Amino acid sequence: MLERLKQLFESPSAKLLLLAVGAGAALTFVLQTFDMNLFEAHLYDFRMRHKGDHQMVEHTVLVKIDDKTVERLNEFSPLSMKQHVSLLKLLSQGHPKAIAYFINFNDSITAETTSDSSKPAENPAESFVQVADSLYASGTPVMLGTDIDVTGEVVPPFPLSKLPHRVATIHKDGTTFSEDKVTRRALFSIYDEPVLHVQLASLINGKTAPTDYRGIYHMPDVDANFFLINYVGPTQDDQQRFTEISAIDILDGKVSPSVFQNKLVLVGTKTKEDSNDYVYTPYSRQIFTNAKLTIHANIIETLIHNNAIMRASRMFDVILTLVLTSLIIAMVFRTSPIRGVVFTTVCALVMMAAALAAFRWGNVWICLAHTLLGIFFAYYVFVPYRLIMEYKQRWQFQKKHEVLVQVEELKGNFMSLITHDLKTPVARIQGMAEVLGRSGADPKIVSEILGSTDELNRFITSILELAKIESNRIQIAKTSKDVNKIIEDCVHKFEFQTRAKKITLATDLEPLFPIRVDVPLLTKVISNLIDNAIKYSPEGARVTIESRESTEQPGFLEITVTDTGHGIGPKDLDNLFAKFYRPKNDITMQTKGTGLGLYLSRYFVELHNGTLTAESVEGKGSMFTILLPLDETEILNAAIPPADHDGETGLFKGDNAYV
Ligand code: ADP
Repeated sequence: MLERLKQLFESPSAKLLLLAVGAGAALTFVLQTFDMNLFEAHLYDFRMRHKGDHQMVEHTVLVKIDDKTVERLNEFSPLSMKQHVSLLKLLSQGHPKAIAYFINFNDSITAETTSDSSKPAENPAESFVQVADSLYASGTPVMLGTDIDVTGEVVPPFPLSKLPHRVATIHKDGTTFSEDKVTRRALFSIYDEPVLHVQLASLINGKTAPTDYRGIYHMPDVDANFFLINYVGPTQDDQQRFTEISAIDILDGKVSPSVFQNKLVLVGTKTKEDSNDYVYTPYSRQIFTNAKLTIHANIIETLIHNNAIMRASRMFDVILTLVLTSLIIAMVFRTSPIRGVVFTTVCALVMMAAALAAFRWGNVWICLAHTLLGIFFAYYVFVPYRLIMEYKQRWQFQKKHEVLVQVEELKGNFMSLITHDLKTPVARIQGMAEVLGRSGADPKIVSEILGSTDELNRFITSILELAKIESNRIQIAKTSKDVNKIIEDCVHKFEFQTRAKKITLATDLEPLFPIRVDVPLLTKVISNLIDNAIKYSPEGARVTIESRESTEQPGFLEITVTDTGHGIGPKDLDNLFAKFYRPKNDITMQTKGTGLGLYLSRYFVELHNGTLTAESVEGKGSMFTILLPLDETEILNAAIPPADHDGETGLFKGDNAYV
């Protein structure tokens, strides 16, 4: 069991997996130590802008004290209490569900008291309270939104403080998260007191507790609950999704009171006099573009629909980063660089699409910054690592290759040197044996010496030819020649040998036109085939050499050497033309040879752009077929290497340097 586990862990795939997960975990850990809030915020805003709009906004109507209003009334924002009394009376005619003021009344009160302090009974602020009270009695609460400071809620000035009031600040990411002053979240409650927005939403959905809502999270350092605003759509003045009415139009009686019926009416300031009336949102970071009044309405809508954005847990973020970085690292080591780039990009895009879908249809915020950076770091850190490893391997391979090429060259030189030097003493032995023969020595001994020297000579010649081939020194010299003549000359040379072995050597030669061939090379090929046919056939066998224009391969001349010898097995037939190949059977063992003859013969035929093939039935005989092109205009190029010869390296398949 332990042994199997050990084996499992030692397999290349397991090693790669361990490396990928280990490196992925390290990368994830390092990335998690960095906040990356600004990047995260940009990704968040991107999703907010592309999540599409919500259903129609129907619960709220915005009443704005805008530039048009203050200019017409010739007052300062947020208008005098007198105007507010008139406005409230007009709004009340529409029987709204509630009227909420997101206004700091301090300036309005100060203006009134200085101008009309002598008659408290006619104090417009008091009148405002009275109108509000009577509205409350008839079922329309009037509520005031307030600010907070270090001491807590900033209560409205007297006598407005008598009216229901709640905190209604707009929160900006000024000190937390991305610190870019963009409004992404809203207060739900502070010191356990729900804010005005919650009060207003509860008039429609009846919910006030944080547990009634999704996505409410606690921030202990300020003892407050927050949630992420799910904007109903763009917040810019020219694109926002709320019904917005100018206060002056209401005061001028241009608006039908029915517009406010059963609605939450939000009254607020929105003048270019005060940049405090505006904020930045994920939709726009331009000043005087996103009115606070619109943001208040968005906050209330989020609460009414209970669809605050929920943040996926940190653990999810860590696991996602770990899985994806490990995957990318494994990919980097497994696939080609191009595939790696494609995979990494696709991975990042799929991640982003999935996060966008989760945001759009599930109102879930999956943090992407760590994951995306993880994906790219995993790729860009590990690609160079892989390249270094590969370069190292290639370098080692190259060094090995250089050494092998050198060895091959030395071997070639050595072989040609040795064989060349051997030729002279062999020729001398041959000469002396002939002299001995003439001077009456035992003819049996003399012929044995001559036979052995012949064999040695053939071996030396083969080795020399191989050395020539391997150093690319074979030259082909074509002359026009009748191939039948070459065959007859070859046959003539073997008369003695065939007679000694009682072999019938027959020819069947069709008259042919002369073709251009390298006569010595073709002679070698035909001689080798006849020699083999005699060598590997028993006494009394028949060897036939035929020549004709090929009927199966028009345009080719066909020479066949057929014997009724021992034949060759199918397995050996496949390797017959390989360098130094000799089948392992008794007949071959008893017969002298180098295993080079057929390799060289095929090479020489291929130099003529021809082919040499073999067919055989074990125990019955063999047939070797040479096909040579007849085309007179064909240009034979001595430099054209055979099929298994690599022109660049000068090596052959099967050569050590190639493996
Ligand atoms: P060598 O004859 O020097 O061994 P060759 O390359 O000429 O080398 O031949 C390779 C092998 O193919 C031989 O060892 C022999 O076993 C087999 N062979 C070649 N020609 C014949 C043939 N006509 N009949 C049977 N076997 C043959």
